[in-house]
Amino acid sequence: MPVANRTATSVKTTCPYCGVGCGVNLIDAQSENVRMPSVSGDMDHPANFGRLCVKGSSLAQTIRSDDRLLTPVVDGQPVTWQSAIDTVSAKIAQVVKDHGPDAFAFYLSGQILTEDYYVANKLAKGFIGTANVDTNSRLCMASAVVGYKRAFGSDTVPCNYEDLERCDLLIMVGSNAAWTHPILYQRIVAAKQQRPHMKVVVIDPRETATCDIADLHLAIKPGSDAAIFSFLLHDSVLAKSLDSNFIANHTNGFEVALAQATASTPSLSFTAGFCGVDEQALACFVRWWHDTPRTITFYSQGVNQSSSGVDKCNAIINCHLATGRIGKEGAGPFSITGQPNAMGGEKWVVWRISWQLIWILPHRAPKIWYSASGKRPIWRQRMV
Ligand code: SF4
Repeated sequence: MPVANRTATSVKTTCPYCGVGCGVNLIDAQSENVRMPSVSGDMDHPANFGRLCVKGSSLAQTIRSDDRLLTPVVDGQPVTWQSAIDTVSAKIAQVVKDHGPDAFAFYLSGQILTEDYYVANKLAKGFIGTANVDTNSRLCMASAVVGYKRAFGSDTVPCNYEDLERCDLLIMVGSNAAWTHPILYQRIVAAKQQRPHMKVVVIDPRETATCDIADLHLAIKPGSDAAIFSFLLHDSVLAKSLDSNFIANHTNGFEVALAQATASTPSLSFTAGFCGVDEQALACFVRWWHDTPRTITFYSQGVNQSSSGVDKCNAIINCHLATGRIGKEGAGPFSITGQPNAMGGEKWVVWRISWQLIWILPHRAPKIWYSASGKRPIWRQRMV
């Protein structure tokens, strides 16, 4: 091809597949009438520094796929956009007329942009008049969100990717990051190679690919993960690893949380039996926890996807609050999201519903935002 006939534009964007959020350079080259898009990792992006996993590096293939739908099709026939929109709007109007607006429900992906969530909500609630709009954030991340909100008053992850590389003990609970967050996992692998004293503990019923870097794998019985953290809280008193100043200055409800943890996991042997793990292995993990202030607990859907997922999240967060392992380099409770914009969906659907409840049902607001006394400032961190 003559060079003069070729044009190319480069755009920095983000891989839309998973919650790691890798930076991508999209190069859209045009030669004659042929588009030749390609992608490469953004060397300057702080999530991936140029790396892409197989999904991200295959992005261009989705753009130029021969079987990709590029124009609207109605009843098997290609039509104009205007014709397609007219057809859909007429069908919506007919369904609303026949069955009412609540006949509609919208279920939105965690992979669309925040602005798209806004428009979809406007269409659903403002125009059609249905409240039946939700995103996969509720299925995917609701436990993590509510756990953070119960503890901190907001859905805030108090850690970043650099903390994963600078911690001395990384506890991975219910996460097979080697498959689900591959670029982040590669950063962890590299950090462990550079800092051999960094220990990795995997808590998961399965022996996953993530266990390849584990110094210790606790193959617990499914659903028993909260007991491990309940016992850690209980045992932190005996091991004198509590941060009394942090507890006094930044938390509420410690005594209640500790009493419940002590009652539910009274001993190491009880906890090991309940979780179905070797007592010596559990004792090793507990000792590492007590001896390692720079600890990250990295948790994902194995924790969240449970009927008691919120309590599991708070069991983890409580251990970090009680030992002051939060707000410091290489320490904190790190919920890793699955999809790239679960938080955007949550902001426009879950949060807006919360705010609507506060305005519509003001007598319920204290139960949503405050402790039972109604006097807890929202910036205080609550142990539950
Ligand atoms: S790790 Fe996730 S964000 Fe990064 S390239 Fe792979 S799928 Fe995309």
